Amino acid sequence: MDDAPLQKPARPCPICGKPAAAKYRPFCSERCAMVDLGRWFGGTYRVPTDDKPEDAAPDARAGDAGDADDER
Ligand SMILES: [Zn+2]
Repeated sequence: MDDAPLQKPARPCPICGKPAAAKYRPFCSERCAMVDLGRWFGGTYRVPTDDKPEDAAPDARAGDAGDADDER
């Protein structure tokens, strides 16, 4: 059997990157936990639903090289 460590490697705080505190896991402090909460309620993590289709090809080329026989 391997002498595996029982302790999992502490994950860093997703907000500031500091080692997380057991009390505020996975954050390092209450402040970072609130920051994460604020992001959720603030709409930072909102799902983009309204993506309007862009017209990639503008239809401005009317009669361009259509009838080459028109030139006299
Ligand atoms: Zn933090």
